[in-house]
Amino acid sequence: MLAALLCRARALLAGPAPAPAPQPASPLPALWAAGHLDIADFSDCPRENRRTPHAMRADGSRRCFRCGHETPGQDL
Ligand SMILES: [Zn+2]
Repeated sequence: MLAALLCRARALLAGPAPAPAPQPASPLPALWAAGHLDIADFSDCPRENRRTPHAMRADGSRRCFRCGHETPGQDL
């Protein structure tokens, strides 16, 4: 009797595991490519003549966070 109950319980518990919910793809690469956000990185600032943090855009242009100097993209 007990064995039958255990067998049934095992059968109920051994069903297929629910598939994990698919993770949505990150929208960040598409937003960056569309110019809606920038990546922060260090780059040479021509105005200050030293490496400073910059906002890097998808078109290759960048803006210095310290002095606001705009450097045009060189990928064109
Ligand atoms: Zn600068």
